Amino acid sequence: MKRCIDRIGGHSTVATLIGLMVLSLLGAGCSSSSGDAGDSVVLVMVDTLRADHLGCYGYDRDTSPNLDRLAASGVLFENFYSVAPWTNPAIATLFTGRYPRAVFPPLPHKKAIGVPLPSQLSTLAEQLREGGLRTVALVDHPGINQALQFDQGFEQWRSLFQEGGFDTWTVTDADFVLTRFRDSLDELGRERFFLYLHLVYPHRPYVPPPPYDTLFGPSSRETGRSRRLEMINAYDGEVRYTDELIGRIAEALDERRLTQSTWLLVTSDHGEGFWEHHQAEHGNSFFNELTKIPLIVVPPKAEGVAGLRISSPASLIDLMPTILSLGGLQPPPELEGRDLRTSWTEPDEFETARWLFIASPHSKDVEAAAVVHGDLKYIDRLPWRRPRPALFDLAQDPAEKRNLAGRSSRTTEMHRRLQAHLKDSDEQRSGLLREDEVELDPEVLERLRALGYLQ
Ligand SMILES: [Zn+2]
Repeated sequence: MKRCIDRIGGHSTVATLIGLMVLSLLGAGCSSSSGDAGDSVVLVMVDTLRADHLGCYGYDRDTSPNLDRLAASGVLFENFYSVAPWTNPAIATLFTGRYPRAVFPPLPHKKAIGVPLPSQLSTLAEQLREGGLRTVALVDHPGINQALQFDQGFEQWRSLFQEGGFDTWTVTDADFVLTRFRDSLDELGRERFFLYLHLVYPHRPYVPPPPYDTLFGPSSRETGRSRRLEMINAYDGEVRYTDELIGRIAEALDERRLTQSTWLLVTSDHGEGFWEHHQAEHGNSFFNELTKIPLIVVPPKAEGVAGLRISSPASLIDLMPTILSLGGLQPPPELEGRDLRTSWTEPDEFETARWLFIASPHSKDVEAAAVVHGDLKYIDRLPWRRPRPALFDLAQDPAEKRNLAGRSSRTTEMHRRLQAHLKDSDEQRSGLLREDEVELDPEVLERLRALGYLQ
């Protein structure tokens, strides 16, 4: 059994608690709602959601009233990173617990988009299913599909955009998604389950339906630097549209009294750039507009951690061991990630200065990579005309504008660690059986094209 938090605040950097009410809640106990048997887990993957466009992460626009409320009733990870700046490698890590380079070879995305998730790996869903949980996926992203074997371990896999038959160039209707989500909950009944919901908005094209299209000012689905503000208005409109849906998803759990036994996790696979560093969209760099994503964990009420904010860096590499643990299973020791629940159940033991890796861009330099350690981030090659290494102190320079690589004694160590990680990952990958590239069906390709892939 895990023990309660016995030391909070002081000089501890692990957890910062908000408000005295929270302290009293913590005093009320920290037992799991259903003990060692584990609970159900709903994971909402919001594609392309950068953390700093949410109110609970400090954004000054009202894009996320529902997520803010959920964060206040659960745990928010302030410094949560992706492992890759685009969808497929990020989801591969979520589903396998391996870093992207240990799963996929570095390739430009036109080729990478056809590489399947190796069937040899034991996936999160497979392990949960073997552990007695029902496993269901509702997926609106065309690149995360059955042809690419992302469905391994899911007893039910539903492609939302294909089922809905929506116009390729518009977003899947939120009411449709909600109906499918409710139907799945009703089918699952009182059994323990893992439900994976992958929403494609606010991915480009930014086409929020009214009134979200003008909620934050004039918007545009056109891209281009001169349209930057309209693009951000449209993106933020989609974030708010998504937030409303997530509020209704939380309600659906509540209406069925599932919040007593279900963990609700909301995260993303990567962020989105709006020319903070000379580029837009994603896939092309390791700056924080692409790599810092939200993680909000809403536990069953008995966990008693409302309003907790964890400042220690963590990443998508941690979600597989965390979800296994929430489901009542022991994470396999070979997984590199940590069970994030220990950040509040065993704060003294939770490592605050970890080496977190980011790799697998799909742009020109597919071999580039980055590493985060505490407040430092090292990028081995900036994606510009004259590639050079970069080191940023994220505490002093969160916008990543002052390159310290030539001036800091830490540069060499960061570089060495990153190279060792890439070598180790490539060795892990070389142990996998080679699988053929997949020919995707025309409907999926058309949808991918609408999202800006294949251009
Ligand atoms: Zn994505």
